Parts: sequence; structure tokens; C-alpha cells
Amino acid sequence: MQTHLFINGAWESPLRGGTLEVIDPATEAVIHQAPAGTAEDIDRAVSAARTAFDTGPWPKMSGADRAVYLRKIARKITEKREALALLEVRDNGKPLPEALWDIDDAAGCFEFYAGLAEELDANPEEIVPLGDARFASKVVQEPIGVAGTITPWNYPLLMVSWKVAPALAAGCTVVLKPSELTPLNALELGLIAQETGLPPGVLNIVTGTGPDAGEPLTRHPDVDKLAFTGSVATGRKVMIAGAQDIKNVSLELGGKSPFIVFADSDIEQAVEWIMFGIFWNQGQVCSATSRVLIEAPVYDAVLARLVEAAGKIRIGNGLDDGTLLGPIVSRGQYDKVLAAIERGRTEGATIAAGGGRAEGFDRGYFIAPTVLTGMSEDNYAWREEIFGPVVCVRSFETEDEAVRSANNSRFGLAAAVMSKDLARCERVARALQAGILWINCSQPTFTEAPWGGYKQSGIGRELGRWGLSNYLQTKQITSYLSDEPWGWYIK
Ligand code: NAD
Repeated sequence: MQTHLFINGAWESPLRGGTLEVIDPATEAVIHQAPAGTAEDIDRAVSAARTAFDTGPWPKMSGADRAVYLRKIARKITEKREALALLEVRDNGKPLPEALWDIDDAAGCFEFYAGLAEELDANPEEIVPLGDARFASKVVQEPIGVAGTITPWNYPLLMVSWKVAPALAAGCTVVLKPSELTPLNALELGLIAQETGLPPGVLNIVTGTGPDAGEPLTRHPDVDKLAFTGSVATGRKVMIAGAQDIKNVSLELGGKSPFIVFADSDIEQAVEWIMFGIFWNQGQVCSATSRVLIEAPVYDAVLARLVEAAGKIRIGNGLDDGTLLGPIVSRGQYDKVLAAIERGRTEGATIAAGGGRAEGFDRGYFIAPTVLTGMSEDNYAWREEIFGPVVCVRSFETEDEAVRSANNSRFGLAAAVMSKDLARCERVARALQAGILWINCSQPTFTEAPWGGYKQSGIGRELGRWGLSNYLQTKQITSYLSDEPWGWYIK
């Protein structure tokens, strides 16, 4: 486990010498003291990234040359797969098979953007047809510059990869500020970058808290681009900070995503996907389908099966064989989730399953899979992102009612619909206000496809070619071709 910040290709002590306690959420044991960077360290990191961008080789290299580094990073992640997954479990709490999946996805993300970096070479410019034959216009794409990237704790290495891989592919240089709750694998990425010989200053990693390290990064005048994933409240602050210098800002924020289940659905499949949509990663998933709408004729049957199956989920330390639900990431999040359940209850919800601390644990932040029913659309638990293993369930009578209820939210990240009638699924998918729509499933995520939200769930898209565009800017180069003088002032 790393004890230093990664700045300009070297391992540096935080200038103020602070540390962050890293706590294993399954045991509550302090497992590491990670470096706590502050504004001074952010300054050093931004300065290194600025120099690497303005005078270093990185932005001027061919995409194919950058792809070589990205592929090396992907390979190293794969070589260290087990060790990285174990660190992820101890840092975040998630079950080991989920952590292994995340690490594979992280490697896949670097591999994918290596391919897109190569494509940049294949399409270096685009000719734009003009309505005036005296001129010719072409368009080139250039890296934006220094990217300040800030990530959350729910998929520690994967969320980092979703930003660092496309930023590097585009030719940007990066300062990364990962979540203070899960700093371990972000620092391991620094080691991997060093092992691949990435030029100094291209990737800099400063661990630290939001106020001490995140905020100075968002306000830094030498940062050109801010890419943030986290809560709406922090996203708003990032946008305000970025407004000072009119930085390019992209935001991946929270959600309260609906899942509409029609009566013709297979009940076992519906319950399986409802559970995958909310209990995977302990429900700490921005796109979790936490509001479930079930058509009235099957409401009782689906609910009964859901309550039964939720009660059987194997809860435990993510390192133990067979664990399907680990602890919540931290004491603070654990308290927040329990408080949200309690508020939902006092505002009228019925607890059909779970509702509190998982039984049989005297330590660790374990919460039982929870199913809430009987609440109104105004209920706190129905409206707000809880970010834990808590699903709210209501019934509906008509398709129109389901769509209206699903869209009645300030969020719009994802939504799911289940029915054997595929025309209806398609119609409902088009009517739902969300950036990611799942039909007859919930949550599968692919590096090739765009990811991001409508409404307060964010601005911009990550992943796929959209993720690369986040770090590119567009330049038109227009030439006057005619031999005729322009003749406006000088006749
Ligand atoms: P958070 O907003 O508390 O923190 C996110 C990051 O911002 C952390 O690194 C934190 O240190 C930093 N930060 C905090 N205050 C800051 C400030 N003033 N300036 C700059 N940076 C600051 O969110 P979290 O609790 O880490 O993550 C959970 C949230 O992230 C949920 O709302 C979830 O929905 C969202 N999320 C969204 C996506 C997506 O793709 N849309 C993915 C994962 C998580």
C-alpha cells in the first residue's frame, strides 16, 4: 500500500505531512495511513501536469504511441488482478467476485481507449463542406489540456479508469483526486503508470479530502477541464468553482432510478433483476434501480418473492466465499443509510424486509437488504438517493401512470422496464427521462456505450467515443483559396 503522493513521476510526501485513515468496513480495523494531500500538493501536481502538457511529448504524440502506454497499463492491471481486487475489497467492502469484475473492467477500459487513441490517427481531420467555394474548412480535434478528475468510492479503480483512460487517450495530462474513503487502488495506478514508463507529469495522483484537495483542484487556474463523479451537492460546488475560469466541466452525479415491471413479466426474472439492480455493490451504485413500480395484478406475487429472496442473501466480509452482500463503505454512509430508512418509515413507509443492521454482526457496517412499501411519492425514501441496499416498491395500474411516476424525479440517470411485449418496452424506454435505459434487465454496463444522466444526474457522457470527446476540443481551420482580393476595405 502506497504512502506517498504520485507527482511528476515520483513519490512525494504531502507537504503538510497529513495522513488519511483507511478503514476496512467489514472489520472496522484501520488498515493503512494514506497520504493526505492539501492545496500545496495540488499546486505541485497541477504544475507538473501543466508542464507535461505545454512542453512535454504527451499531447503531441501520435494516438498510436499513446495507445502503447494505455495497453501497458491495461496489461499491468490484469497481471495484478488478484492483488488489486483484494485491496478493493478491504478498502470498499464489496464481495471479491464483484471486485474482480471491476478490475477486469478497469483493464478493459484502458484497452478500449487505446483503440480510440489509434482511431484519432486514422481520422486526423474532417472536411466541412461550405456553401462558399472560395473557402475550405477542416476540423481537427485537440486535447483540452490539464484535466482535474475527482472520483467517488463506490467503484474505486473503475471510476478512476473511466476518467484517466479517455483523458490520456485524448492527449490530456491529468491530476486525479480519488475519494478519501478508498484511496488505495488509485495510488496503485500511480505505481503501474511508473512501471510502464509514462512520461513524468502526465498522470499525477493526490489523495486527500474533498475540501482540502478536491476543492483546490476545482479552483486551480491552470486546470482546463474538470471531470467529476459524485453527489449532486458536490457536483454543484464543482460547477460553481469551474465557472470562475469558464472551465469545461462534465458531471456524473446521483440517481434514483425507476424500474417498471409489467404484469406479463416472468416473476423469477423480475425479482432477479430487481435484486441485481439494488443489492449489487450494497446498492452503492449511482444507477441503482431503487424505485420499483410493479403493475397491480402481479404486485403481491413479485413483492412476496422479493421479500423472501432478499432475506436469503448471504451477508458477510467480502473476502469470505459465497458473500453476496458486504458492508457499507464507511461509518458515515452506514449512519446515513439507516437514517434514510428511519425517515422513510416515519413518513409512512412499511418495512417489508430488513430495515436495519444485519443480524449476527458485532462489527462492520452491515445493513440488511431492505424492502420498503406503502409510501407516497413524496416520501423521502422514494424521492432521495439512499445509496444503500434499500429498494422502494409501489404498484401502478396503467402504463401512463407508471411513466409519469417514474419521471417524477429531479434525477434522470437510468431506468429499466420489463415486459414480454417488446414494443411496449421500446415505447416506455423512449418516454422515460434518463440517459441509460435497460430493457428486461438492470445495470449491465459496457465500456463501448455512453454513460450519463438527464436532469440533475449530470452533464456530459462518459464511456464509448462520448467519453473521449469529454477530453477533446474542436478546432476549425478555414483557408481562403481564391485569387480574388477580398476587397472590403481595400478596393
Ligand atoms: P461525494 O460527492 O461526497 O464525493 C465525490 C468526490 O468529491 C470525492 O473524491 C470527494 O473527496 C470529492 N469532494 C468532496 N467535496 C468536494 C469539493 N468541495 N470540491 C471538490 N471535490 C470534492 O460523493 P461520494 O459519496 O464519494 O459518491 C457517491 C455519489 O456519487 C452518489 O451520489 C452517486 O450516485 C454518485 N456516483 C455517480 C456515478 C455516475 O456515473 N453518475 C458513479 C458513481 C457514483
